[in-house]
Amino acid sequence: MTDSLIFDTTNATAEAAEAEAGTATAATAEAGAGAAEAAEAAEAATNFPFSVYTLGSGSTGNCVYFACRLPSGKVEFLIDAGLSMRATEKALNALGSSLADIAAIFITHEHVDHIGGLAMIAKHYAMPIYIAADSLPFLPSDLPRARLAPVDIPFSLSLGEVQISSFATSHDSFSSCGYRVEAAGYRVGLCTDTGDVLESMAAGLYGCQAVILEANYDKAMLETGRYPPFWRERIAGKRGHLDNDTAGRFAAYLVSSGTYRILLAHLSAENNTPDKALAAVRAALALTFPDRPVSLAVAARYGVTKFL
Ligand SMILES: [Zn+2]
Ligand SMILES: [Zn+2]
Repeated sequence: MTDSLIFDTTNATAEAAEAEAGTATAATAEAGAGAAEAAEAAEAATNFPFSVYTLGSGSTGNCVYFACRLPSGKVEFLIDAGLSMRATEKALNALGSSLADIAAIFITHEHVDHIGGLAMIAKHYAMPIYIAADSLPFLPSDLPRARLAPVDIPFSLSLGEVQISSFATSHDSFSSCGYRVEAAGYRVGLCTDTGDVLESMAAGLYGCQAVILEANYDKAMLETGRYPPFWRERIAGKRGHLDNDTAGRFAAYLVSSGTYRILLAHLSAENNTPDKALAAVRAALALTFPDRPVSLAVAARYGVTKFL
């Protein structure tokens, strides 16, 4: 694609990054951080006006819960609804919330792991569901159309004092996007399900202090795994998913823009492990920003993971 972004945040090659990943010992951002910088980042993180949790992450179902606490009140919304309504409600209840409190749902794309619970939720609740107009003809027939708020990517809107904007990603769905959420000077981004890093993604996430970023697969595991060739090609294609090394280089770019909290998400159960994803991204960050404190974690496939 013409707007594919080539990284040049460092002279290091991907091979060098891989070699580093193999030899790095405790190359965590925390380990390399000065105490003052780490304390500063921790202090800033506690001031986030957002609580953000993944309720599930990966091919078995994606959903991210945002609760924004602002002087004008609390604004709660979801990005994606890939869990069943019951599982979503149960997870929200455990966090002191409920689907009845959700002001809106924003969809990244129409694949079932992102909209699996949407039809049932839309039948029982009246919040608007923002979804790309291009995806509408391909949605399940039992999804009540009256609940849908079709949008063209990119779009931007406000929920009270919270600004939510979308940006295009590169995926084999009829439309796909990531999101940027802003309030009170804090910016949180989400970007999963993309086989390439586009300029729209770099621009959309630029300056986000906290980002949920896909690290879907380890290249060697995919190549030597049991997936048939056509499936491997689909995943590794420019409209598939993001591999760990590319996620690492994109993470380094994001850190250069001010990101200091990253949650790796949508890991493949078959072709990745949390340790491999963390090691690859840590290695990329250690090459480019060895002294920058960055909080790095992995979203659980099942259950709730607290991000902010
Ligand atoms: Zn997808
Ligand atoms: Zn997905």
